Parts: sequence; C-alpha cells; structure tokens
Amino acid sequence: MIRGIRSRIISTYLFLILISMAVLGILLIWIIKEYNISNLKLSMTNEAKLVSELVYDRVQLGDISEVNKDIKIMGRELNARITLVHTNGKVIGDSFFEPGAMDNHRNRPEIREALQGRVGSQIRFSESARAENLYVAVPIIADNFILGAVRLAIPLKNINITLTKLLSLLFSGILAATLLGVFLSVKLAKGLTEPIENINAGAKKIASGNWDTRVYSGYGDEIAELGNTINFMTKTLKEHIEEVAEGKSRMENIVSAMASGVIVLDNYGMVKIVNRAAEEMLGISLAAAEEKHILEVIRHFGLNDQIEKCLIQEKTADYEIAVYYPKEKIIKCYIAPVYREKTVAGITVVFHDITQIRKLEQMRVDFVANASHELRTPLTVIKGYAETLLGGALNDRPVSEKFVSVIDQEADRLQRLVNELLTLSKLESYQTVKDEQSVDLISLIQEVANEIGQSFSNKEISLSLKLPQRINPVKANEDRIKQVMVNLLENALKFTPKKGWVCVSVVDAGVDIKVCVKDTGIGIPQEELPRVFERFYRVDKARSRQLGGFGLGLSITKHIVEAYGGKMGVESTLGEGSIFWFTLPKHE
Ligand code: ADP
Repeated sequence: MIRGIRSRIISTYLFLILISMAVLGILLIWIIKEYNISNLKLSMTNEAKLVSELVYDRVQLGDISEVNKDIKIMGRELNARITLVHTNGKVIGDSFFEPGAMDNHRNRPEIREALQGRVGSQIRFSESARAENLYVAVPIIADNFILGAVRLAIPLKNINITLTKLLSLLFSGILAATLLGVFLSVKLAKGLTEPIENINAGAKKIASGNWDTRVYSGYGDEIAELGNTINFMTKTLKEHIEEVAEGKSRMENIVSAMASGVIVLDNYGMVKIVNRAAEEMLGISLAAAEEKHILEVIRHFGLNDQIEKCLIQEKTADYEIAVYYPKEKIIKCYIAPVYREKTVAGITVVFHDITQIRKLEQMRVDFVANASHELRTPLTVIKGYAETLLGGALNDRPVSEKFVSVIDQEADRLQRLVNELLTLSKLESYQTVKDEQSVDLISLIQEVANEIGQSFSNKEISLSLKLPQRINPVKANEDRIKQVMVNLLENALKFTPKKGWVCVSVVDAGVDIKVCVKDTGIGIPQEELPRVFERFYRVDKARSRQLGGFGLGLSITKHIVEAYGGKMGVESTLGEGSIFWFTLPKHE
C-alpha cells in the first residue's frame, strides 16, 4: 500500500513535470519561430522595398534585360532569391532562374497581395528550390500606379536549424528537469510515506496486542496528528481492555471459586463456561465440553427442555436431576437467562449437590419411623397389661404382680430409650464440645472395669486390661468417655458367649491415644460392618431386642468420639470375635 502511495506521488510528479515541460517547450518553440519569422519578414519587406526602389526606373522604362542582371547582383548581395513580376504575372527578373523558363506568377498568394498594393507573404514549399521558403512581396509603385511586384524568398532552413538547436537544448532541459523532479519527488514521497510506514508498522504491532507500542508522532502536519490520535486511542484502549480483563478475571475467579457448579450457555445451548465445581460434580471438563451442546455434555432431556423453555419464555426455573457418574448424586439445577442489552444472550445453570440433604431428609424420616416403632412396642405392652389388669386381673394377686412387673420393665425400657434419644439429640446439637477436660484413660478404664466386672464374672467371661503404666491424658469429657467404654464393654458382654474373653488395651498412637475392646464373641458379618454405627441398626434384630438393645449404643458412642475429635472403627470375623477401637487426641 505504502509502495503504491510512493509510486503514485512519483508518477504524478513526473507526469506534471513532463506535461508542463512539453507545453512550455512547444509554446517557446512556437513563439521563437513566430518571432524569427516576423523579424525575417520585416527585414525582407524592407529589403524588397529597397529593391523595388532600385529597379523602379528600369521597369518603368521597360529595360528588362538590365533589370534581370541587377536582380541577380542584388540577390547575391542580400543572400536571397529575388523575383520581379510584371502586373500580368509574367516573371521579368529572377536571381536564381531564367525568367523565360518560369511560369506565370499571378496566382501566387504573396504576388496577388502585392499587385493589389499590399505587402504579401507566405511560407510554402518551393518545387523549384526544393525547400520550404518564406516569400515576401511588395508592389512597385509609380505615381500611384502599380508596375509590378518584387518578391524575396529565403529558405526557412536557417530558422529551422536554430529551432532544432533550441529543441535539443529544450530536450536536455526537460531531461534534467525530469531527473531533478524524480529525485525531488522520491525525496518528497519518502518524507511523506516514511511516517505512514512507521504508523502502519506501529498499528500492526498494536493490532497483535502490543499495547505499549507508540507510533510516529512528529509536530505540525496531519500525519503527526494521526500518529498522536492513534497513540491516544491505544492508551485509552489499553486502559479499557485492562479494565475489562480485570473485571473478567474477577468474574472468572468468583465463578471458579464458587462451591456451586456453574455452566454458562449461549442462546443456542452451546457450552461457554464450566467452573471447577461443575466439572467435579458432573464428571466433565471444560476442555471437552466447550462449544458442545448442553445435551451432549449432560445427557438429560428433561434439563434440556427446561433450558429451552427458559430461553423462549425468559423465566427462571429449577429442576432436579439424578447423576450416576462419577458418583450417584442428586443435583438441583437453577436455570436463569443471561441478558445482554435487554435481549437473552444465553443461560446460566447453577448446580447444587443436594445428595447429602436428601440423605439427611431420608435419615430423619427413617429416624422418626424407627423411634416411633421403638416407642410403640413397650407402650403397646404397657397398655395391654394395664387393660388386662383393669379388666379384672387386678383381683388375682400373683397374676397382677407379674403383670405390674412387666409394666415396670417396659417402663424402664421406655425410659432407657428416651434417655438414649435425648443423649443422641444433645450430641447432635454439639453441646458436648464445651465440656472438654483432661481425661486419664487408664484410671477411667479401671473404674469402668471395676463397675462392670461383676457382670463379666457372672457370665464367666474374663475381662483383661492391657494398660501401660502411664499415658498422656486425652482431651474429652470424663462422663462421656465412661459412657463410650460402658457401651463397648456391655456390647462385648452381650455378644460374647459364656467362657469367652474380652480385652481392653490402650496404646500411644502418636498424636492420638488408641483404645481397643476385643472380644471372642459372635462377630459381625463383613457386609454389615459399615452399618453398625447407624441409628437403630442391629445385625440380628430379634436377638438384640431380646438383649435389651435399641441399636443406638454404637451410634451414640461414635458421635461422642467424633465430637472430641477422635475416630471410631470396627474389625470383625463372624464367629470369631470383634475389635471395636477408637482414638482421642492427646491433651497437650
Ligand atoms: P444395641 O443396643 O442393639 O447393642 P448397638 O448400637 O450398641 O445397639 O449395636 C448395634 C449392633 O451391632 C448390635 O445390635 C449388634 O448386632 C452389633 N454389635 C455391637 N457390638 C457387637 C459385638 N461386640 N459383637 C457382635 N456384634 C455386635
């Protein structure tokens, strides 16, 4: 493009120089030629007049032969051809040719003029002289009477030689002027195009994103002003782009840091943005999902219908979907239109993993059902026995005593259940954490073992304690940990047959203290192990109920241990025995 401008400037200048030089040259040659011819004509007129004066007498006397001689002499002297013509057009004297051999000259234009008393002249090619001549004729007048005409002819070649010289001079001038013009126009074009080239190179750099580039900025001319404007525009653009980029990165940071999954679609349903949470939640990646239709990314026609509806009706919607990969989940999707300049430009879908909420809801429902069931059983027994008593059994003392004792047992059971439910409820509201203290596990375990020891002896089960001399105290609540130990030992006692063996050991496990309660009891099937800590869960319902359990003990135990920052677990082999263990952090 720049080359174009430069060559256009140079060719325009050259054209102008050549045209003006040519016009000037032609005009000059023409003027010089005309000037020379009119000068020559004037001197020839004077010379012809002189000749006419000189030959006038002889012509009047009719002395033709002498006239011819004089003419030849004068022709030599004047370096011109002189012709003397009679009024009838007959040539009576000629300095070059013999008059007798010459044809009538009456119709020669210059002669015709002269014979009418005026000065006649013409430039024409002479057949006899074989050259272009200037003819000038004047009348020979005697007493207002025209006797004939004197004509002078000079070949124009002399003038033409001068003109040819002038022409070659002119050509040299034109050539020199052209060369100078080329040189100057190249310089001028360079001076003009260089700043443009500079601006162009700078603009290319700016276009490629190099916003710190500054283009040519001189002073005064329009190109400099253009440079300054581009520089100002670049600076302003850079500021705007930085602002937009900052806003975008802030937005991206917010979106990517959001715990909720976010997918942004354009108004064709093509995926534009996927944040990290959405990637994890849905098991997809932005790289694989970008520019794909949402239906290809999440194969859920219901969700797709909702998105399309939202695009058409411009209304927010929420929708629940079940996802099976990478994990089974229930996800709530909030679908909302995204507006740009008051028209819908796309859709934002926000995903919330509500699996846990749903699980908790289910747990609550199960808990209420289980609790009601557990409460109803003793209540039904109490009500049944009470009605029987009221129906007349009261009068039968041994029967009524037996019935009242059953009522008493069931009331106890009810009380225990209510107490356990209360404990669970307290634990769930995290009230325990406030009552932390330093607890010495060795003395605590010895104390519990002493309290419960008799029950073990009664069932002929040996209870051994493998306790170190000294161990770091733990950070917990003594009564609660006692409850944990009692629960675990009571379970071991319950589920270990006669002549069995139960061992409590305490070890230092680094940051924690680990307590294990090992028994040689009935054991728990492998597949049941993960569930034994669930509320109301019992491996063998009938047996457990018979032994007075509600399936809440281990759940309460685990809750207590976790409330003080510990962990709880179980290992068991069916028919061989179980190991229930828990850890508690040391009290530093
Ligand atoms: P429960 O009051 O019924 O004992 P737990 O929550 O304490 O309730 O225990 C849940 C279930 O775990 C019990 O019903 C029993 O099936 C099983 N279990 C607990 N401890 C042992 C153990 N030491 N040996 C075998 N099974 C046990």
